[in-house]
Amino acid sequence: DMLHLIRQCIMKLETSYKPKNQRIKINAQETTLVSVFDYDRMEQVLINVIGNAVKYTPEEGKITIFVSRMPKELVLRICDTGMGIPDKDLARIFERFYRVDKARSRALGGTGLGLSIAQQFVEAHGGNIAIESTVDIGTTVTIRLPAVSVSA
Ligand code: ATP
Ligand code: MG
Repeated sequence: DMLHLIRQCIMKLETSYKPKNQRIKINAQETTLVSVFDYDRMEQVLINVIGNAVKYTPEEGKITIFVSRMPKELVLRICDTGMGIPDKDLARIFERFYRVDKARSRALGGTGLGLSIAQQFVEAHGGNIAIESTVDIGTTVTIRLPAVSVSA
C-alpha cells in the first residue's frame, strides 16, 4: 500500500520537519493505493525526495504529496514551497554528487547522491522521476510507477 508507505516515511522524517514547523499533507483520491514495488527501495526513494522537500524548504513551509492512480500508472507528486532550483541547475540535478550552489548546499550538508539514488530505484521499477522548480516559489518532484496488475 503506497499510502501506508508514504505515512511511514513522513513519520520517519518527523524529527526533521516538526522543529521547522512545516506541514506535510497527503492528498489522495483513495484511502489505499495498492501497487507492486520493492518496499525498502521505494522507502529510500521517498525519504530522499520528501527529505529534500523538508531540507530545502524554510520554516513554516508546506509540503503536499499528491497520489493518484491512472489507468497505467501510479503518480506521486511531492510539492514544496521552498527555495527552488535555478533553471541552469535543473538539467543536472540527478547527476551523482551534483549539488546546487555550493555555498547554500554546504550550509545544509549532504552528498548530492539522494536524487541520483532515487532515480535509479524508480527506473529499476520501470518508472520515471522528473523535477520542476521555480526559484523562491518551490519544487515539484513527479514519480511515475507503472501499474502492475496483481493476479491472485
Ligand atoms: P543528499 O541527499 O545526498 O544528502 P543533497 O540533498 O544535496 O544530498 P540530492 O538529494 O541529490 O543531494 O539533491 C541535489 C541538489 O538538488 C541539492 O543539493 C539541492 O541543491 C537540490 N534540491 C533537491 N531537492 C530540492 C528541493 N526540493 N528544493 C530545492 N532544491 C532541491
Ligand atoms: Mg537530498
